[in-house]
Amino acid sequence: MAVIQRIGIYGGTFDPIHLGHLAIAEEARWALDLHQVIFVPAARQPFKMDSTTADASRRLIMTRLACSSNPAFTVSDSELQRAVPSYTIDTLALFRAHFGAHADLIFILGADAARDLPRWHRARELMTLARFAVIERPGVRLDLHQLDRELPGVVERLTIIAGPQLIISSTELRRRLATGQPVRYQIPEAVYAYICAHGLYGVAAPQQRQNSSSAL
Ligand code: ATP
Ligand code: MG
Repeated sequence: MAVIQRIGIYGGTFDPIHLGHLAIAEEARWALDLHQVIFVPAARQPFKMDSTTADASRRLIMTRLACSSNPAFTVSDSELQRAVPSYTIDTLALFRAHFGAHADLIFILGADAARDLPRWHRARELMTLARFAVIERPGVRLDLHQLDRELPGVVERLTIIAGPQLIISSTELRRRLATGQPVRYQIPEAVYAYICAHGLYGVAAPQQRQNSSSAL
């Protein structure tokens, strides 16, 4: 009998990817016995970009660096190949076509993102393409009754995963990087090294750092 493939699909801006992302992906992999988790960095609306955010190619590289040590993690650039805005429905349709009708596709998302699910593009159809793994997020209360009122049937299609609850967010990391506060041990070492090497998020690039120290 053929084994049904269970594939986790994990969309996010990953700007930058952090240990919260990796820990919840690993928890979902273990809790749902997933064969693999595919990270899918999202394209960003050009008007939302500024010097404190990273462009798509850099976010893709950082996501690859972060995932390289886990054989169950892979990274897809499918959303970055399409015109902005790219919708999750299109991504799921792509993976459904790739893995076939029998694969079990599970979209992984945090509780904050799950609250918005009813407002996602073609949300009802989305439910027919995948199930959802919703990971609790510190400080976020998800009201399942309300969610089911807004998107009937969704609660049957989702599994709540309790942890680990890590108070790490990319917004806070971007703020910390811009103000010189520490971020080590909240993001993978290789990602931190990449951020420093390329002067992302307002961190002084090596060239600038050298110039300022030689001025002493
Ligand atoms: P930002 O602050 O820029 O929104 P973020 O930390 O929320 O960044 P995203 O790339 O927006 O990261 O998140 C991708 C997905 O991961 C979303 O579904 C989000 O809910 C979830 N997520 C991110 N961080 C955590 C966390 N610490 N715990 C649980 N879920 C998380
Ligand atoms: Mg977010």
